[in-house]
Amino acid sequence: MHTLSGERAVRFGSAVIAYEPAWRERRDVEITVHPDLRVTVLCPAGRSPVAVDAVVLRKAPWILRQQLRFQDLHPLPTEPRFVAGETFRYLGRQYRLKLDEGSEPRVVLSRPYLRVVVPDVRDHAEVGKMIDRWRRARAAAVFAEHVEAIVMRCPWLGPRPETLRVRTMACRWGSCSASGVITLNPALVSAHPSCIEYVVAHELCHRKVMKHDQRFYRLLGRVVPDWQTRRDRLNNLR
Ligand SMILES: [Zn+2]
Repeated sequence: MHTLSGERAVRFGSAVIAYEPAWRERRDVEITVHPDLRVTVLCPAGRSPVAVDAVVLRKAPWILRQQLRFQDLHPLPTEPRFVAGETFRYLGRQYRLKLDEGSEPRVVLSRPYLRVVVPDVRDHAEVGKMIDRWRRARAAAVFAEHVEAIVMRCPWLGPRPETLRVRTMACRWGSCSASGVITLNPALVSAHPSCIEYVVAHELCHRKVMKHDQRFYRLLGRVVPDWQTRRDRLNNLR
């Protein structure tokens, strides 16, 4: 299957896998799935595109599995402009940005508005900074509540983590270090609480099992039985 710009694609069941081929002096076909879900394929010189298609098709289940894994914890890529009327999500609900001028800068959530009071409403950078600070503070509080609730409900997961870091990450909602430090993306506070609970549970389970293996998913299933539905809902946010 041909696509734009030298890309090729194969159909596997209902899925279409697009890939970028590059021919090199080499013996074997090498397929790489990147965190942004792109698939690149290094092909031996002289191997026909159709023959490469066949190799990609044979590896399709593995490619889709890798893509799903990367999709698992992806953030929102949209760039906000911080202008009046713009839509923001908080805990899965939509709010419209309302800008008011005032000498006491603050952010107030009052449905249907996310109201920001600033000395100069044309100062979008300042509005952005205020929303960012507000969201980070809300995120830290919301995430801590979820950790507390899960740890209380599932004591077999171990003690509550001593620190919970909130940090913007380029391509994931959360992470867990080898020493058990959990980091969560403040952008996650946009998502529905059930999705936040899924990500928090996912990272808490990593303190018991680091790898995404069967044991890990069994554990996650005990904490959040419908985690797949929640993951899909989270991915549909994008
Ligand atoms: Zn994970």
